[in-house]
Amino acid sequence: MTDTLFSKIIRREIPADIVYEDDLCLAFRDITPQAPVHILVIPKKPIPKLADATPEDCELLGHLLLTVKEIAASEGLTNGYRTVINTGNDGGQTVYHLHVHLLGGRSLSWPPG
Ligand code: 5GP
Repeated sequence: MTDTLFSKIIRREIPADIVYEDDLCLAFRDITPQAPVHILVIPKKPIPKLADATPEDCELLGHLLLTVKEIAASEGLTNGYRTVINTGNDGGQTVYHLHVHLLGGRSLSWPPG
């Protein structure tokens, strides 16, 4: 796959406001926040999009969601939050390195546009 800017963030080649890191994933604040808290949680493994994940990624995908839960708690999102994974063109994905959006800190409407 082609290198993305998220791979560059993992390698610290471009700056980001990193809030969490472990062996499997990295979390940093979105550069264009859509809510008071808007954090992207990404696997270090460069899976382009959810549609490219395989059964071998099962544990990794679970780890991403549990990491979101921990970060939401550490951000004080006691009243709830939203997680979003945009996939492909129709899903509105713009960066082809799988990422989970964590949005919170305000009441979010539904359905999305
Ligand atoms: P997508 O549209 O692919 O679901 O989400 C990509 C997200 O990456 C967008 O919310 C966008 O604001 C964010 N983003 C794009 N470039 C950068 C960057 O250089 N740094 C950070 N922190 N976020 C970025």
